[in-house]
Amino acid sequence: MQNDLTLFNELVTTLISEEQQQPVAKPIDTNSLYETLDLELHAEGSIDRDFEAALRAIIKYTPKTASRKFFNQLFGGRMSRATLGDLLAVMLNNSMYTYKVAGPQVGVEKTILHKICEIIGYPETSDGTFAPGGSMSNFMAALMARDKQDPQVRMSGVTSKMTLYTSEVSHYSIAKNAAFIGVGRQQVRTIKTNDRGEMLAEDLERQITMDKAKGFQPFFVNATAGTTVLGAFDNIEAISKVCKSHQLWLHLDGAYCGAVIFSDTYKHLVAGIELTDSFSVNAHKMLGTPLSCSIIVVKDKKYLYESFSNEAEYLYQTNDDDFNLGKTSIQCGRRNDALKLWTLWKSIGSNGLRALVNKQFELAEIARDYIRSHKDYTLYSFDNSISVCFNYKNIPANLLCTALYDHAELMVGFGQFRDQEFVRMVTINSVLEETDIINFFKTIENFEHSTDL
Ligand SMILES: *Cc1c(COP(=O)(O)O)cnc(C)c1O
Repeated sequence: MQNDLTLFNELVTTLISEEQQQPVAKPIDTNSLYETLDLELHAEGSIDRDFEAALRAIIKYTPKTASRKFFNQLFGGRMSRATLGDLLAVMLNNSMYTYKVAGPQVGVEKTILHKICEIIGYPETSDGTFAPGGSMSNFMAALMARDKQDPQVRMSGVTSKMTLYTSEVSHYSIAKNAAFIGVGRQQVRTIKTNDRGEMLAEDLERQITMDKAKGFQPFFVNATAGTTVLGAFDNIEAISKVCKSHQLWLHLDGAYCGAVIFSDTYKHLVAGIELTDSFSVNAHKMLGTPLSCSIIVVKDKKYLYESFSNEAEYLYQTNDDDFNLGKTSIQCGRRNDALKLWTLWKSIGSNGLRALVNKQFELAEIARDYIRSHKDYTLYSFDNSISVCFNYKNIPANLLCTALYDHAELMVGFGQFRDQEFVRMVTINSVLEETDIINFFKTIENFEHSTDL
């Protein structure tokens, strides 16, 4: 192991210098991937020199998500204390299902969950778990809602026409999950949004009433804190009123921007969060932990147990349910995703988390200011969002983003709202500073001059 740890340190040193020297890795065409890199597996193992060389080449050509040129996705950067925690989790290699096997790691996880419940104003009855990502957190929420609406379903399967509601710009996992939970994609109602991409409570009310009149059984409403493209926040208070009057489960998908709960300045964007039945947040997005670190909390933990617990004598042999986290999990063996968030939170404190969140909004404001004050740009997104959506001159966004990637200049993606396509630059990458934002725009401008787009 010691030798491999030494090798690991060498490789990571190379990676970090690569991130600085070549912040956007030169993309390998998919047609030549297997010729360019030594990926083949053989009957005989490689000699060390070849093994190391293969690893170095793979590292060189792997996209650098922690570089200052990475604006492509809803994550990026590297919080070193979080990375430290994740490396330790790999070395410790516990499975989170029982206290017997995970020991104090159970306390690490429970501390985070209880703290988040406290911050959002959930009562004593609340609890939560870590899921393998935001899509799976949403899945768990929809499943609990289904079982609450019709407790027979767990034994006999879905027999009635159950319907669920989510905005037209919400995450695609909602539709997939409707299929996974046996309700069906056709039973997903997409609710209209206003011109900022926020769900319209009136349309929600209208569609629920219409479905009930037709004999459907509404059971679940998904609201979003930070929509995937525009970064919009649904109005929880207005949506909650509709849910209360029809007795529907309200979930808040905060995978992208739920971490605003840590900021006094921005938590107003999720005002009314305590009215929800469940809430999920990805720490690997705004909080910058390594992938994946997704948390779901539930106002009443009874629903977690009712949907996810199962007796298993071969597994649960000691301690009570409260410390055997397998009883509230979607998985059996489960990776320790909690430690990396705990090491981050422990070392920088809640104030540090607040600063992280605030900085991303401040950088987005700087980007919007730049766009507003340069006539070649058109802005499509709004204040209080860390997704900055724009077009440059009349260059189609998909052409521009693809050319920037092909030429290893910048990693940035494009998105769409209504009929408009635009570049979506995200200020979530934890290593970004103001100069990186300005450099981003300068790179686009210089690039346009030097190529014929
Ligand atoms: C990223 C995201 C998800 C999915 O999270 P994964 O961890 O990628 O599965 C769900 N909802 C929203 C709003 C997101 O931005």
